[in-house]
Amino acid sequence: MSDKKSKGQALQKALAYKKQNYYEQADKAERKAIFAYAEGYKNFLNAAKTEREATDYAVSAAEKAGFTEYHFGDALRAGDKKYFINRGKSVVVFRVGTLPLEEDGLRIIASHIDAPRVDIKQNPLYEDSGMAFLKTHYYGGIKKYQWTAIPLALHGVVILKDGTKVTVKVGEDPKDPVFYINDLLPHLGGEQMSGSANKLIEGEQLNVLVGGMPYPDDEVDGKIKLNVLNVLHDKYGIEEEDFLSAELSAVPAFPARDVGFDRALIGAYGHDDRVCAYPALTAVLDNDTPHTVLAMLVDKEEIGSEGNTGIQSKVYEDLMEEISLAMGANFRKVRAASKCLSSDVTAAFDPNFAGVYEKMNAAMLSCGTAMCKFTGARGKSGSNDANAEFIGEVRKMFAEGGVVWQTAELGKVDIGGGGTVAKFVANLNIDTVDLGVPVISMHAPWEVISKADLYSNYKAFLAFMK
Ligand code: MN
Ligand code: MN
Repeated sequence: MSDKKSKGQALQKALAYKKQNYYEQADKAERKAIFAYAEGYKNFLNAAKTEREATDYAVSAAEKAGFTEYHFGDALRAGDKKYFINRGKSVVVFRVGTLPLEEDGLRIIASHIDAPRVDIKQNPLYEDSGMAFLKTHYYGGIKKYQWTAIPLALHGVVILKDGTKVTVKVGEDPKDPVFYINDLLPHLGGEQMSGSANKLIEGEQLNVLVGGMPYPDDEVDGKIKLNVLNVLHDKYGIEEEDFLSAELSAVPAFPARDVGFDRALIGAYGHDDRVCAYPALTAVLDNDTPHTVLAMLVDKEEIGSEGNTGIQSKVYEDLMEEISLAMGANFRKVRAASKCLSSDVTAAFDPNFAGVYEKMNAAMLSCGTAMCKFTGARGKSGSNDANAEFIGEVRKMFAEGGVVWQTAELGKVDIGGGGTVAKFVANLNIDTVDLGVPVISMHAPWEVISKADLYSNYKAFLAFMK
């Protein structure tokens, strides 16, 4: 073999498409940037395990960056840096640009800040056989058996009968107690293990262990439950009836950690979709642009984007209309000119489960953020299926921004399926395509992503805003 390329080799280099590993493409300085960016992301993961905490984090980061709160009807002018809070559970951080809105539209990055978890029921507390438990109803698509026998933390709010809001966060500080969902020992698990994985643990078995000490009074029944109530009352002023108006979630108590000898990866709870929300937030907070850009961090994606904090709510459309009005622009023209990256995670190809993927079109770990032209299932049902013209436009932006990226499809045609917020934004007459980070073990209590893909996602947003 000579050093000189053969005619065929040269032709191949010129004509054939090959996915690139971002770590391989990155020079020393870029690798350093990839690793540095991941540190901030891990802090965000540890601070924000629920949509409420992610909203609080975004608001305080926005304030630090000189953004101020916006309310419907406020005047706006070019250069304004604003955030809009929706019920403490979703937030839109935005910059008003200098380009005319009717021609340039809005540049929207939409990602979600809710994540699969185990929610506490409204009448949850009971004791049985020396233990106190909270009944739960899981939130989002989980493999129920994965949520047993791991340390859990309790996060959320309780609205007391006088209307006072009490914030609860127990299990994150190393000195805190944690909580637990029981599983069966293998010695007695023969029948359990012979059934389908769906039935290993049933929904009504996902009871969270919260106590084991009786209240010292022989005159009462339910001493363990009473003791838990007593602790809750001492610490938070909560009575049992206050659970009726509470929103409490059990989430994995693990912090984010580097994974691998080379630290190329990050393991954490809730990469889906904080691995897109964090780059969306930091891209808009830290970078000036002539466009009007919005980072929409929304709730309820995991249960169908419903409710007044999910992307289907009119509140987001109202916000876009209010911005248009305040800038003296026709909203219909504005949204027709707008562009959106629906930024949600996708499945990373996993060689341990190769059979469910179509390798040519699956997202490969560390090959950059992944664009999904369509999601949906079997015949693209329920998919946004972005227009080739818009993809071409975004592709050009990424090329100009030096973004290492890839395309992706979630599993084999007849196997997979999934949805994102994309179709709801597209329904508003906004060009929209899905773009997000490939995830290993998506929806597990601890998921894995590549730091290279995280940073690629950030760079993609910068290119989109430029
Ligand atoms: Mn998601
Ligand atoms: Mn999800």
